[in-house]
Amino acid sequence: MQGKVAAIVGPGEFAVKQYEVPEPAAGALVLKVRRANVCGSDIHHFHFHSPALREAALGHEFIGEVVSLGAGVTHDNAGMPVHVGDRIVPVYYVTCRRCEHCLRGEFSMCTNALREWSKNPDVAPHFFGGFGTHYYVNEDQHFYKVPDELDDRIVAGANCGLAQMLFALDRTRLSAGSTIVIQGAGGLGLYAAAVAKERGARVIIIEGVPDRIALAKRFGADEVVDMAVHTTMEGRVARLQKLTGGIGPDIVLEVTGVSAAFPESLVLARVGGEVVSVGNLNVGEGFEVSLSPGIITRKNLRLYGVLRYDPWYLHRALEFLKRTRDRFPFESLTMQAYRFEDLGDAIRDGESRSVARASIVF
Ligand SMILES: [Zn+2]
Ligand SMILES: [Zn+2]
Repeated sequence: MQGKVAAIVGPGEFAVKQYEVPEPAAGALVLKVRRANVCGSDIHHFHFHSPALREAALGHEFIGEVVSLGAGVTHDNAGMPVHVGDRIVPVYYVTCRRCEHCLRGEFSMCTNALREWSKNPDVAPHFFGGFGTHYYVNEDQHFYKVPDELDDRIVAGANCGLAQMLFALDRTRLSAGSTIVIQGAGGLGLYAAAVAKERGARVIIIEGVPDRIALAKRFGADEVVDMAVHTTMEGRVARLQKLTGGIGPDIVLEVTGVSAAFPESLVLARVGGEVVSVGNLNVGEGFEVSLSPGIITRKNLRLYGVLRYDPWYLHRALEFLKRTRDRFPFESLTMQAYRFEDLGDAIRDGESRSVARASIVF
């Protein structure tokens, strides 16, 4: 059987390549992809912003269905039995359990995390990306069976955005009664709003796109600071001060991917507050900002950078969706559906931020 997978072939260029679908090795499994979302980091990889990923497969946020199981694969990483035909979400990176970070229990930082994903699909077993008809789950990747009650539309974002937001907010002291400001109401920001809301926090979102503002409210935002109204940082700081009784928010979460949002998050946070940097991924020229480090000292800020998540957070993401699917409109995150043949359009629309998550349906 032949399958197809999209690969980056140059900065801002992809090609759909065709290969024989392999039989899984012992401990591995092969999935048929059901639905895949265009995530912000796919756009960065596409444009060669990420040093680790060049001529690599594209796509990582998806849900698949088991086509074949390698020897010894009988259960998922939560101990649930798996069979051909079951819907599965894999953690999109490897947890090797052998590197210096895994030895320290820092599984989200595994040195070998991108070992498979970063490969050129010309190398067997070819199917390293979510934008393909098939996907090969390596034996070092965690995966979980998807509960029957969860629709593909709401699960497709679990293995990146939702799992990462659950993990990122667990780094902080967020609790019932905390005030969190979320910079940006794209996929990550909306997931974060739902997670913070479920934990009893007060949620304030900074966003300028009207459709996203409307979604932010449906995902639990108590207040929205509209960037079309509050167009300067000074204006937004003043608005936030007013909304928080002159103190400022306990936590500021940056999920915009815009460099200028980071120095602003330092200004927005209250004295003794916490700042979480997730959206800004790129390093180097074109991504630099100026700031006075003294603000961190003077305000006694705690900073967290969060890339990826510990793999079992994907299981927590599924549990979170089971608990809250009637409370938040997760399906509306991926309303814009595209055929695999129209992947170029999906990437373009994802990049223009005209949709929260462009979603490819196979
Ligand atoms: Zn992602
Ligand atoms: Zn490792």
